[in-house]
Amino acid sequence: MIRIGQGLDVHAFYDKSLESANAESNLQQFVTLAGVKIEHSHSLLAHSDGDVVLHALADALLGALALGDIGQHFPDTDNANAGLDSRVLLRHVYGLIQQKGYKLINADITVACERPKLAKHNLAMRSNIADDLKTEVDNISVKATTTEKLGFTGRQEGILCSAVVLISKD
Ligand code: ZN
Repeated sequence: MIRIGQGLDVHAFYDKSLESANAESNLQQFVTLAGVKIEHSHSLLAHSDGDVVLHALADALLGALALGDIGQHFPDTDNANAGLDSRVLLRHVYGLIQQKGYKLINADITVACERPKLAKHNLAMRSNIADDLKTEVDNISVKATTTEKLGFTGRQEGILCSAVVLISKD
């Protein structure tokens, strides 16, 4: 028995240094993609850590078994989910898949943004996902593309991620 699922997620960029101009807070800005902290000129706006890659992937896994979406499982109205590490979320979701007797065959993920450039982070991102989904890194594909400067990703207003998964049960 095999099932397919797809997920899509978007988060907007914002400039943390603008809101904390007179704060002494750490102005280092970064985005977290597949659990990898990547320095960037902007951060991602989110209730959680804004990890678009893991959110799209978790939604794909839930979708494969028609288990709803991560908004239902981790409501952003719940303060317990503030700043949530999305790897915790992903592992929880994969636990639900395993409870139903399924395991991942493979995942294919596409991230759309002009910047940051992701090539040098590719293996780290795939390794994190493989660890969380208890599989080999060869079963996890992460691809990056630009949108040729078109649309919100092209204007560097945010990052979009799309994910497809195949899962199976003996
Ligand atoms: Zn998200």
